[in-house]
Amino acid sequence: MHRQSALPASAELVERVDWLIRLRWVAILGVIVTIEGVRRSLHAGLAVRELYLTTGCLGAYNLAFFLLVRRLRGRAAQLEECRAAAFANVQISLDLLALAVLLHFSGGIENPFASYFVFHVIIASILLSRRATYAQVTLGLALMSAVSLSEYAGVLKHYPVVGFWGQGAYRDGTLVAARLFVLGTTLFLSAFMATGIAAHLRSREQETVLLSDDVARKAAMLEAAYEKLSGTDRTKSQYMRKVSHELRGPLGTIQTGLRAVLDGLTGEVSQRSRDVIARAERRAGELAQVTQDLLVLSRAREARLDAQMSDIGPAAIASAVVEEMKAAAEGAGVSLLAEISPDVGQVRGDATGLQQMVGNLVSNAIRYTPRQGWVFVRVTTASGTVRVEVEDTGIGIPEEEKERIFEEFYRAANAREHASDGTGLGLSIVKAVAEQHGGSVSVDSTVGKGTRFTVDLPLLSVSDCGTNRGVN
Ligand code: ADP
Repeated sequence: MHRQSALPASAELVERVDWLIRLRWVAILGVIVTIEGVRRSLHAGLAVRELYLTTGCLGAYNLAFFLLVRRLRGRAAQLEECRAAAFANVQISLDLLALAVLLHFSGGIENPFASYFVFHVIIASILLSRRATYAQVTLGLALMSAVSLSEYAGVLKHYPVVGFWGQGAYRDGTLVAARLFVLGTTLFLSAFMATGIAAHLRSREQETVLLSDDVARKAAMLEAAYEKLSGTDRTKSQYMRKVSHELRGPLGTIQTGLRAVLDGLTGEVSQRSRDVIARAERRAGELAQVTQDLLVLSRAREARLDAQMSDIGPAAIASAVVEEMKAAAEGAGVSLLAEISPDVGQVRGDATGLQQMVGNLVSNAIRYTPRQGWVFVRVTTASGTVRVEVEDTGIGIPEEEKERIFEEFYRAANAREHASDGTGLGLSIVKAVAEQHGGSVSVDSTVGKGTRFTVDLPLLSVSDCGTNRGVN
């Protein structure tokens, strides 16, 4: 449950004290306008000197508060130490006193402006606790009672506003008591309602603050977790790149050595030995392919698009890949078709990576399409992106495996049956390169019918083209 007396947060209270000071300047202006208005319309009987003196005091203490707040601005902690709430309390008490004095010099209880105490009640309920508000209401009523009763008893001089308001009423005991009673009940009822509304609003305000604190805390936690995860991912990629790099050299030497033996450069080899060496050479080749793929994958994941990247036309890259793959398609008995619009625009990126990305998609399509089938490569533009589609009439991807095919080393069961070779890294590279370029990849496939991979890459905007021209 919320405490009813909950106060506005300290920083906010400081802001509201500021508001109170500004409000007081407006009130001072209002008092001056009223004094002048009454003076000019009634021509006589107003204690102008005393009223201006009181207004002057009002202005003086408001100026003092204004300067104090300005000095403390930016040092909220210091203001908190001086207790911002006590500061507001003192100000409101002084305002009540100022109003009582102004009323005293302008007819006392006869002056209908006595009801203006209500404004102080509302201000107090906004700035102070419920208890403090009632204390201020009591003070206001006590001050007004002191003025009225003292004037009634002749202890204080009565300043009538000649020609206006019910003159002589200050001497009528019943009338004085009745007016004080009405004023008192009005003030206490107003305090009751205003503090109720203020407490409700404050509790809502606190709930919102708590909620936004919670959201901010959770966002920070998420960000930290993401940072940690990215760090781990980076370390993994770096590790992968280093290992692949280290393996590449020795593997190359092994392959060259084995090839030399097979080619008879080291002398005659028996057929049995030849078979064993040929198998070893094949396996070394597969291993070299995995190493090469891991190297490309880690590079794509680590590298950011920066000044080293150039402006590239994906259409030219796709055309080159199609040209390069024609022989492989022919060998597999698959028709390789293409529809590549040459003016699709440019993307900023890594030419080798993009070539590898399109190459992987096309070689997969050829590999997983039975003879007589076709593979279709299409490059178009669609709302600020270059779209590369590679479609085939191949074996398709089972629905439940679609989610996993972009994972490293994952191969669907039907693919393993159809083609025993494959590293399971091709699509991981496709995804990494697409994301490296700020793009994305998606798949649409039906088992036994075919598959379509779609890559969207953000196009270079006109301004990008301007800034990057010449970077190659
Ligand atoms: P792989 O070396 O096995 O082709 P990839 O990462 O390139 O590795 O592909 C992962 C898996 O996605 C493949 O094993 C296969 O199950 C599936 N796949 C990829 N492309 C196609 C395609 N065009 N048609 C059917 N399945 C595909």
